[in-house]
Amino acid sequence: MKIQKTISITTIVISLSLIIYMCVMMTIDSGNNTTSNPTSDNVISHTGTPSGDVSSAVPTGSVAPTTPLQTAAVPSATKTPVPTQSTVTAVPGGKTSTNPNYAGKKLISITFDDGPHPYNTTKVLDMLKSKGVRATFFVLGENLYSETQKSFVKRAYDEGHEIANHSYDHPSFTSLSADQIKEQLRRTDDTIKSIIGEVPVLFRPPGGAYNQAVSEQCGKAIVLWSIDSRDWEHLSARNVKNYATNHGISEEEAKNILIDEVLFKGFTYTVSGKQYTNPAIVSLLRHGSIILFHDIHPYSGEAAGKLIDYIQSTGEFEILPVSEMIETEQRSPQAGDVYSYMWETYATKKQNW
Ligand SMILES: [Zn+2]
Repeated sequence: MKIQKTISITTIVISLSLIIYMCVMMTIDSGNNTTSNPTSDNVISHTGTPSGDVSSAVPTGSVAPTTPLQTAAVPSATKTPVPTQSTVTAVPGGKTSTNPNYAGKKLISITFDDGPHPYNTTKVLDMLKSKGVRATFFVLGENLYSETQKSFVKRAYDEGHEIANHSYDHPSFTSLSADQIKEQLRRTDDTIKSIIGEVPVLFRPPGGAYNQAVSEQCGKAIVLWSIDSRDWEHLSARNVKNYATNHGISEEEAKNILIDEVLFKGFTYTVSGKQYTNPAIVSLLRHGSIILFHDIHPYSGEAAGKLIDYIQSTGEFEILPVSEMIETEQRSPQAGDVYSYMWETYATKKQNW
């Protein structure tokens, strides 16, 4: 009898405890739903950064997510329900600028690497001038020996373009010593300063290859890209010539077809026997995009010009040099930052070493 009574009391106590526990859990649950579920607009994932960017891989158009940045967030293995803080105070992945000067506009940057080139850079500068667009030029120190070569940088700077450092002679930075990294940057900085009186604040490592040592030793903000035109291959003089021969058409026609693919249709390419897709640039454009071209190739300026025509015809975009674009919504780019979009910065810097 006594045992039965004890069991009954125990059962009642356990049942009551369960009911109280469930009530408490429901309260906590509803509290979470109302207070800590962030909107996609104010969260940037510090763990969802494309890992390929961090070590040595070349970011390509296929790396760029076709969906907005905020959806490329927490990996499924992570059980943390929501990120609790972000070091980025802007609106990562926002659809348009929050800066009153560019209200309602999508900001993008067009960049040109590996120059200057005596003939092709001039064509690019003429094109940009005619369309009233300012870009960012990542120049190589080895291309700045003669006064003529230097004059392209001077002209670009005087016409409002940003001059940035792309190393001295284009080595892969992840295989350099700390001293070699600094020397590559310093030589090019010194020459640029002698031409325009300023030292660049941005560095683009050749091939996009960087690691912690590169980030720490370069002394600049690293800028990669979110959209790769692959102009160096698809629009090279050789590819245009081959395409014309293979299809029995003129080089002029071949060039137009290939530019059309780069900008509006997309194309496939093969690396080590594996096929990749480079989506049409216009399909990837969004607020914060950084687009990669090379001003040393003969048809890159024309391709960039047609892209600018399209961008301007939409009325949706404002094209700015990289530093200026970043400054409109964040602090100025600083040493140790890494950008491949406007916002992908502090995130990449510290989380993945
Ligand atoms: Zn390069």
